[in-house]
Amino acid sequence: MIRTQVQHTSVLIPPRDHIQPTHVLIPPRNHQPIPEFHLQLKEQECLSLLKRCKNMEEFKQAHAHILKWGLFWNSFCASNLVATCALSVWGSMAYACSIFHQICEPGTFEFNTMIKGHVKDMNYEEALLVYAAMLERGIEPDNFTFPALLKACALLRALDEGMQIHGQIVKLGLHDDLYVQNSLINLYGKCKKIELSYAVFKNMDQKSVSSWSAIIVANASLGLWNECLMLFGDMNNEGFWRPEESILVNVVCACTHLGALHLGRCVHGSLLRSISSLNVIVQTSLINMYAKCGAIQEAVSLFKKMPDKNQLSYSAAISGLAMHGRGREALELFSEMLREGLKPDAVIYVGVLSACSQCGLVDEGLQFFEQMKSEYEVEPTIQHYGCMVDLLSRAGLLSEAYDLIKNMPMKPNDVVWRSLLSACKVHQNLEIGEIAANELLQSNSKNPGDYLLLSYMYARTRRWEDVSRVRTELAEKGIYQAPGFSSVEVQKKTYRFFSQDVKCPHHDGICDMIHQMEWQLKFEGYVPDTSQVLLDVQEEEKRQRLRGHSQKLAIAFALLNTSRGSPIRITRNLRMCSDCHTYTKYISLIYEREIIVRDRNRFHHFRDGTCSCNDYW
Ligand SMILES: [Zn+2]
Ligand SMILES: [Zn+2]
Repeated sequence: MIRTQVQHTSVLIPPRDHIQPTHVLIPPRNHQPIPEFHLQLKEQECLSLLKRCKNMEEFKQAHAHILKWGLFWNSFCASNLVATCALSVWGSMAYACSIFHQICEPGTFEFNTMIKGHVKDMNYEEALLVYAAMLERGIEPDNFTFPALLKACALLRALDEGMQIHGQIVKLGLHDDLYVQNSLINLYGKCKKIELSYAVFKNMDQKSVSSWSAIIVANASLGLWNECLMLFGDMNNEGFWRPEESILVNVVCACTHLGALHLGRCVHGSLLRSISSLNVIVQTSLINMYAKCGAIQEAVSLFKKMPDKNQLSYSAAISGLAMHGRGREALELFSEMLREGLKPDAVIYVGVLSACSQCGLVDEGLQFFEQMKSEYEVEPTIQHYGCMVDLLSRAGLLSEAYDLIKNMPMKPNDVVWRSLLSACKVHQNLEIGEIAANELLQSNSKNPGDYLLLSYMYARTRRWEDVSRVRTELAEKGIYQAPGFSSVEVQKKTYRFFSQDVKCPHHDGICDMIHQMEWQLKFEGYVPDTSQVLLDVQEEEKRQRLRGHSQKLAIAFALLNTSRGSPIRITRNLRMCSDCHTYTKYISLIYEREIIVRDRNRFHHFRDGTCSCNDYW
């Protein structure tokens, strides 16, 4: 394991140029023994001398004093000397190494100090090598050795080494130590072995807030947002009322991903109660949460109240507004940011360009794309090109978009081809659509949506043979289409509806409601757009399938169970079909409700029979 990594030139010997001039002062070995009482006084003096050091210069003077007093051979003084040099903010690991080497018989404490020091300096491999040297010399590690060491493994993603160390921990009987356990949860989380994190977590007799934090962070790093929220609930139930900032930030993040606005608001409340002033990072994650949970107004007012704004907070607000189709306001914020003297970076320009593309501001988008290169020397990345392709193709400039792809300085990725493909579907351009689709199918992206878009385009032109060819390919490659679902928050609980699901417990009530809704829709002139159904079946069956789209089920359920006039917020996993879009517009008019739907890319705010996207998505 680690042993194999020990190179012939042992790391424990620092390179020549690291040895400072003071080290010419090799301590005399034939020192006289100091009387016991006198020694204690000297030790105290030495300690307070070290404590007063504020920089390396002062430290070197203290070091010289200790050598002069003959105290270097006293293990108490020597280990404090190493610890001060290795662990102080102003310290130097190279210097600490050279002192460490002069200690005749370094013990566990000194080795632990060196491991910690290397981890602090982000020299994780060195930390593992010090541990190897420690074992080689037969020095037994203790519970202070492992947290730093496991942190090094976690940051190196060194799962094998980490597991071997775990073995040694068990052998030494230290597996019950709280800090060691927390470090193990973190290690396995970082190495994407969440089941091992859970194994440690579940075996703990006592858990601290840090244990909960470690397991929540581990889940968050893998995008297991539901688990994050469940753990957060368990944590509260077990009486840990004062969660750390790191937990709350991850929970805010989980709410953002799940669209859980109510819980997000609660977490915001508990942040305000437990932390006196929220820093920029926390506030930015809250802005992001409100924006992505559909409450753009709350995001904007939180942003306006921020005393210190940085690029990240501007970026969150700009892309939030863009996502809600409020491109003009996003661009105004961008000019405000420039007036404030903040330099725009690559991330901000992604927000700005996507604001232009969401709102069809072609000329502005082209200008900003030029400006970023010429004025602010931001090199466009694949993401910026992606936005530009999106901008052009949404606006129907499909061949311009295709030309841009062909002339990109880098290899176009799936995202780029996909935005061209979906625009081809909207603008019904089968020719370029086929090119984009073939690129995607060849790239092995295994995204069922690509196949569906292409087969939709064939179905529209009634090329049923091509439809079935694409469908067969999809099946042969074993690509699984995740079932479409829509979630809706009703009375602080989230309900999820799957398309065509007749087994749902609320099914009967929903069916009646849908029947009633359709009856009113017909009066308003709604005609089901059966071209959305990709099956070569009878019209009536197509209508039946359209009726079962998850978004309609969620709307019916929300209309039944929420009070008059309150907004309905829906989160869906797949892109909205144009029939659901038209349907929802009518419903917002007939039932006088604001309906906010978030799909994978953006928000639709339906009100009085119109949508904020202006039918442009
Ligand atoms: Zn639909
Ligand atoms: Zn819309």
